[in-house]
Amino acid sequence: MQTQSVEVILNRALANHDLSEAEGVILLQQKEAGAIAAIRQTANHLRQHQSGETVTYVINRNINFTNICEQHCSFCAFRRDEDADGAYWLDEAKILEKTTDAVARNATEICMQGGLHPGAKLNGGSLPYYLRLVRTIKETFPHLHLHAFSPQEVEFIARQDGLSFSEVIDAFQEAGVGSMPGTAAEVLDDAVRRVICPEKINTKVWLEVVRTAHRLGMPTTSTLLSGHIETPEQQMRHLGLLRSLQQQSLEQGDRGLVNSLCCPSLDKKRLNLCVAGSDAISPFWQMLCC
Ligand code: SF4
Repeated sequence: MQTQSVEVILNRALANHDLSEAEGVILLQQKEAGAIAAIRQTANHLRQHQSGETVTYVINRNINFTNICEQHCSFCAFRRDEDADGAYWLDEAKILEKTTDAVARNATEICMQGGLHPGAKLNGGSLPYYLRLVRTIKETFPHLHLHAFSPQEVEFIARQDGLSFSEVIDAFQEAGVGSMPGTAAEVLDDAVRRVICPEKINTKVWLEVVRTAHRLGMPTTSTLLSGHIETPEQQMRHLGLLRSLQQQSLEQGDRGLVNSLCCPSLDKKRLNLCVAGSDAISPFWQMLCC
């Protein structure tokens, strides 16, 4: 009966129907080798149809300008208190040195994020501090793509300076930020968030910041931090929210989510069946999640 259900669901996917969250849960719950092989085969067929044999990659360096953070996400081994061993700030010279080295290694993109530090201010403002980070890179390397500052960081800056999300994102775009990392999504389910990242923005705010970025013409990525306390239903809810967001953004003519990143233990082939409209699915790479 269960195998029959899987077959029906896979045929619907092959016929280009959007799977429901309940159907996705059935796929995620499969443990039998034959069913898993059928899911992978279907996902691979759909991937082949969408992308052929083309595999793309970006040579990228992550620069995390500080690890001092006001929050205490339970999964985070990166953050430090200001006076703790290993706490650091990268000054402009160090950021430029890391960027220069990355360019010498053929990097075309810098991903920049950092801890949330209320002391990260320039002339009394948080936004000017972040804009100086952008300028540090873009004035020397104007052609580098800057993938920078998560929805959580946008909310942090807006809160610190009394600005709207659009004002922050607008200023980033004008300074040369090319896209927004979709980190801080973790699992878009507030019951999970209250346990693993209780101080972070909630689901509604994450979606609002990303929707605002799309509306302003800034593409974003999205992440799913899976394999801890979340259930298959919560994983599917997350993917359902991303799919709705993407459909809405594409309908409005925005580029929307250009990549969906799965970190780390949800089967990426099953994920591929459930998220429609994202240009690419990426494997996990080690990066800061704020
Ligand atoms: S994940 Fe980000 S926001 Fe959370 S504690 Fe770590 S650095 Fe701070």
